[in-house]
Amino acid sequence: MALGGDGAFPGRPAPGTHAMTGGPGGDADVVVVGAGAAGCVVARRLADAGADVLLLEAGTAAASPRAGLLDIGPDSRVVARHPATLGDAVLELPRGRTVGGSGAVNGGYCAPARPADLEAWGPDWPRRYAVGLARAAERLRPRLAPMGPVAAWVAAAFPGRVAAVAQARSGERRVTAFDAWDPAGAGVRVRAGAAVRELSWAGGAVGGTGGARRCVGVALDDDEEITTRQVVLCAGTIGTTVLLLGSGIDRAGGHPVGDGVQEHPELLLDVPAGLAAAAAGLPPLLSHVVRLELPERERGWVPEIEVRPYAVPMHRVIPGLEEAPHRVGVALMNPVGRGRVHADGSVHLADDPRDATALAEATALVAERLGIDGAVTRSTSQHLSGAARIGEVCDDSGRVHGVEGLRVADASVLPALPRCGPYYSVLAVAEELAARVAAERAW
Ligand SMILES: Cc1cc2nc3c(=O)[nH]c(=O)nc-3n(C[C@H](O)[C@H](O)[C@H](O)COP(=O)(O)OP(=O)(O)OC[C@H]3O[C@@H](n4cnc5c(N)ncnc54)[C@H](O)[C@@H]3O)c2cc1C
Repeated sequence: MALGGDGAFPGRPAPGTHAMTGGPGGDADVVVVGAGAAGCVVARRLADAGADVLLLEAGTAAASPRAGLLDIGPDSRVVARHPATLGDAVLELPRGRTVGGSGAVNGGYCAPARPADLEAWGPDWPRRYAVGLARAAERLRPRLAPMGPVAAWVAAAFPGRVAAVAQARSGERRVTAFDAWDPAGAGVRVRAGAAVRELSWAGGAVGGTGGARRCVGVALDDDEEITTRQVVLCAGTIGTTVLLLGSGIDRAGGHPVGDGVQEHPELLLDVPAGLAAAAAGLPPLLSHVVRLELPERERGWVPEIEVRPYAVPMHRVIPGLEEAPHRVGVALMNPVGRGRVHADGSVHLADDPRDATALAEATALVAERLGIDGAVTRSTSQHLSGAARIGEVCDDSGRVHGVEGLRVADASVLPALPRCGPYYSVLAVAEELAARVAAERAW
């Protein structure tokens, strides 16, 4: 869908002239912040339930014109870059800044969480997740792809260990949550180029003047104030942390926001170049993974490993990236280490020696089985989650503890990172939390 030059979607009011309801609920019944993976789900479902929903997206571009690619390269206009530290290394984490969010620029692999992942979330979650996932699957319809030569090569080295992973694609095009949930089609007022600066509080400050803390809206970067009964933060793990901390929801007030975030650390192993040449066109980057467990030995836990046979070298799918060797990823899916997101949007990625040891061991095993001796590059999976976890910062419905009118429904709320890519889980959880908001008619 193309954006009009004014930042509003066709048929929707232009910024600054948008038709505010101005009723007792304020300018909208519900303001959803961030039109990424979770935001599109929540906005659609609340509009379906009869709410007047305003969906605010900081990015100005309607979508990446390079929808089959990971448009995160140096000249991308659809990502924000966040500085991060990983041990001594300094790197940049790209996050989608466009409708569809990071789901518009990600690898697109969709794997559901496993039952054991969900049991750790709480007794109700296996059932709630299953319901949310079924709804998400109906909309996104991820598809399996044939096994290419690189995946076949890696699978052959680990008999019985390979699993197919579905892709959110239609042909060579990525299908984003914005495509699949089509919030504008349900009457949601979508505003791109609307970056939220902070939350607004009854009484003018967090805590307000008389007792309960009540969030009454948001202020945009250009000082525009928008009032509402219900704000749902879906700005992603980094964006939501920045907004919460910048609006006074922090550890000092009993909310451990940004603490203990989880990521899947990954090492990349150079592999022979010839294999990928056989993959024609633009195949899905990842159609299969190999799942391994390392022996417990004296470490007291069993590291779980995902081997990722990327179909082509990264420079074929990331525009503007310098030519790089073809690589296979080796990721630790149940890391011990925890990181932190700071109020300025910078990230400290966990660098736990136990994780490093397990990953090095796994990479050596993979190299040996594949019969290669390639260079190893340190990387990360871009799966950051858990900055405002259910149970710690939010309740089971995504309500921020002790605050009225404010919920979180994005990757920040995941109580623990599943042992797979989080995208499908973020969509499933957003479905479930949206169903709660709708059932409670929280507007
Ligand atoms: C490069 C990359 C590759 C990945 N590959 C995979 C994969 O293959 N499989 C997988 O399972 N997961 C993958 N992921 C992770 C997955 O994409 C994310 O977990 C998921 O998109 C998180 O959804 P979200 O709704 O929390 O945030 P996002 O999808 O990031 O959406 C957040 C949205 O909020 C907007 N926003 C932020 N701040 C503000 C503000 N102040 N005001 C208004 N709007 C704001 C952003 O612009 C963005 O559109 C990848 C991520 C990246 C970055």
